[in-house]
Amino acid sequence: MSQVRLRFAPSPTGYLHVGGARTALFNWLLARKLGGTFVLRIEDTDVARSTQESVDAILQGMEWLGLDWDEGPFYQSDNFPLYKEHVDRLLAEGKAYKCYCSSEELEAKREKALAEGRKPKYDGTCRKLETDVPGKPFVVRFKAPLDGVTAFDDLIKGPISFENSELDDLIIQRSDGTPTYNFVVVVDDASMGITTVIRGDDHVNNTPRQILLYQALGSPVPRFAHVPMILGSDKTRLSKRHGATSVMAYRDMGFLPEAMINYLVRLGWSHGDEEIFSREELIEKFTIEAVGRSAGVFNTDKLLWLNAHYIKSGDPERLATLLLPFLADRGVDPSMGGPALPTVVRTLQERAKTMLELADGAVFYYTPLPLFDDEAIAKHVKPETAGYLQSLATALETAADFNHDAVEVVFKEVCAGLGIKMGQIGPAVRIALCGGTVSPSIYEVMEVLGRDESCRRLSRAIARFSA
Ligand code: GLU
Repeated sequence: MSQVRLRFAPSPTGYLHVGGARTALFNWLLARKLGGTFVLRIEDTDVARSTQESVDAILQGMEWLGLDWDEGPFYQSDNFPLYKEHVDRLLAEGKAYKCYCSSEELEAKREKALAEGRKPKYDGTCRKLETDVPGKPFVVRFKAPLDGVTAFDDLIKGPISFENSELDDLIIQRSDGTPTYNFVVVVDDASMGITTVIRGDDHVNNTPRQILLYQALGSPVPRFAHVPMILGSDKTRLSKRHGATSVMAYRDMGFLPEAMINYLVRLGWSHGDEEIFSREELIEKFTIEAVGRSAGVFNTDKLLWLNAHYIKSGDPERLATLLLPFLADRGVDPSMGGPALPTVVRTLQERAKTMLELADGAVFYYTPLPLFDDEAIAKHVKPETAGYLQSLATALETAADFNHDAVEVVFKEVCAGLGIKMGQIGPAVRIALCGGTVSPSIYEVMEVLGRDESCRRLSRAIARFSA
């Protein structure tokens, strides 16, 4: 059995868009599932719009998502001699012809057709020329069949067909000698032996023209799967108006790559009513035929829900590593002292929906003097509070053990001794330890901070509360 070969072929004119990332993901999944090859090809023939910065951004996005490629990246700009060779071959075989019509002539014909209510289409003037016109600039046009039908069975959309009479004699080489987009895609997919083309459905109309080119070149026609686009909440095509569309912007907003992968695959593909898929499960269960025909609507709440799931169930060591840049943004470097970061992560991962929340929650552990939240103090600190905290601090200093359970016992004993409820002291202790009243369980926080640091923070708060 011959091997499947798939490719992702981004144009480097911007960052990696979530729609592009999903196309890359579907290709990658199918390649991994079928033990095939995943090729990365950079479509940079539009020299004016392509930038190295954009290539780097796309590669960075692919790497962050863990979509590794087996071959490439190949650059179309390296292939100009190959394209030229194929244009010359089609000319020599009479399957393409030089067209000398000037843009003014073409424009006049176009206007005439429109005025007469006909669809504007190249009228084939130069198709009949038998000799070259030396010295005159020309484009090369593909000699498309004048009748018949070009059809294909799209793996997602089902059978699609176009009347050949609707298709123009496509320009395959411009007057400056550069090849055009539809032509280079075919030459590349043919020479790279691509067996299945999965791409956005904005390319459906290109497909019949490309099929005719494969046939003219004598190359096998690949199978096609056109993926429906991604819409924003108002059902128009997803764009910056709806929020971030760059994959890396989601990393910066604190999303994990596994949440993004899980979210993107479900945006258009389903397997029963399952929502959570590990990478291995996706490779096992993914099929292109199960991709839906209708456009998916990007839903940030669902992405957040998945992200919370992956943070909650994530390995604390790994989350700690991913958290470092977010902490650095907050001026925190855990290697300078303080509790071990994975331990801190364990106390916070249950509740954090994003890595930003996780980082915000971790800051107080590494801040020797957390800033007191004055509003919280006004609300929770009464004249008698400093005294209560003093009793607690004294008991904690001499407690035999200092872990979650031991601290809890001390708390309860102190409250019983003072004849107060936990609620009369808990919020103030939180303020003392963390600066404010939002934190994981106080017992957990104390265990992680350790006895010395917990008592130091209590003393500092006692001084402040009694002032
Ligand atoms: N370079 C094209 C794009 O970015 C993809 C073309 C294709 O996949 O055939 O939309």
